[in-house]
Amino acid sequence: MKNSDFMQKDLKFNWHPCTQMKDHEFLPLIPIKKAKEIYLYDFEGNSYIDAISSWWVNIFGHQNKYINKAIKKQLKKLEHVIFAGFTHKGAVKLSKRLTKLTKLDKVFYADNGSSAVEVALKMAYHYYLNKGEKRHLFFSLKNSYHGETIGALSVGDVDLYKKTYEPLLIKSIQLPIPKDDSKKEALQALKNCKLYFQKYHYDVSSLIIEPLVQCAGNMKMHHPIFVKGLKELCDEFNVKLILDEIAVGFGRTGSMFAHFQAGIKPDFLCLSKGLTGGYMPLSMVLTTNDIYNEFYCDYEKLKAFLHSHSYTANPLAIAAANATLDLFEKTDILKENKKKAKYIWNKIQKFKKLKNVKEIRQKGMITAIEMIDYPFEKRAGLEVYKYGLKNGVLLRPLGNVIYFMPPYIITYEEIDKMIKTAYKGIKCLEDK
Ligand SMILES: *Cc1c(COP(=O)(O)O)cnc(C)c1O
Repeated sequence: MKNSDFMQKDLKFNWHPCTQMKDHEFLPLIPIKKAKEIYLYDFEGNSYIDAISSWWVNIFGHQNKYINKAIKKQLKKLEHVIFAGFTHKGAVKLSKRLTKLTKLDKVFYADNGSSAVEVALKMAYHYYLNKGEKRHLFFSLKNSYHGETIGALSVGDVDLYKKTYEPLLIKSIQLPIPKDDSKKEALQALKNCKLYFQKYHYDVSSLIIEPLVQCAGNMKMHHPIFVKGLKELCDEFNVKLILDEIAVGFGRTGSMFAHFQAGIKPDFLCLSKGLTGGYMPLSMVLTTNDIYNEFYCDYEKLKAFLHSHSYTANPLAIAAANATLDLFEKTDILKENKKKAKYIWNKIQKFKKLKNVKEIRQKGMITAIEMIDYPFEKRAGLEVYKYGLKNGVLLRPLGNVIYFMPPYIITYEEIDKMIKTAYKGIKCLEDK
């Protein structure tokens, strides 16, 4: 079967995420037949380097033998069971491992990133309610992204996704962010943030942030001292801190979790995406005993957190997650990533010579190249996307920002190809 035949069949039935479907009148929709390591293969035998880890989820490659085996093994025993009133081995193991890693105490499971954010927001609000305080506001950061469900969208600040739904959203206030990832800008932004804390703190249950990198917000980066400073403000004004590490967790920014670089401990930590190595939908919110104990009470007092999802703590997804953690333990991946990140950084210096490149930036295995401010309608990123596909690399620019977020198992040779293709794709636009 040809790609184009398949595409027509698909378009008859499917409505794809984050897509103006009319684009597919001129843009190919690529059916993927199989994948291996960092490569995706279509029905015509073309291969694509998955330079964005299939929307930031894949870390140890596609069809990873070890993770495959773990899921198969689990499948022979238990595919799913209700997680209220029941439990299973994998969930105990995974929670034990992640609480140990993060020094947090309790795990609440959900099945996707947005839902984890909803859980954390509701818990923070409910925590104060159980204490007899009604705090109806949330703090988040300008340019932030926390997912697409109404609560998560409310604390986000990417106009493209949010503006349409504005009248439906819950109340939140966006705090200023540093202009760049320097210490100086971080300290300046903290001063400005403090004014908001002083004015609103009585009504605010929590501040939610993406530590170090605002990924969907065009890969904007800040210094770890900004995260540390926000934690100090939260402590000073008695506001809970929610860290959304859905994209930056599991080694993406260089450390196992991004907030390790700031040397802080949050009140809530949201994880998903890389949690299962990119295999299955699963998410979790880790929190402290301080939070947990405020809900722990006689039933009649009605203080329980009565939130649930049908697929909470799905055993197959958890098997993938435990296998993913095994791989972190069995390999030297974080150390190797450090070398790879450095290699990528050195290689992309040449982008600065292109007339249409404004800035390059990096945190660990996230590298971004920001082009000049092409007008929105020009869809410059889309041109680079198309060039990439034609040349065997899946790049998926965010507006005018081209970025690399590859699976960690990418080789140096593959890095060279990924970078070369992006370079040529951007260069094609230089004189247009
Ligand atoms: C992807 C993402 C989410 C939402 O996760 P979904 O699984 O897509 O709902 C939330 N926060 C951040 C930082 C993300 O990158």
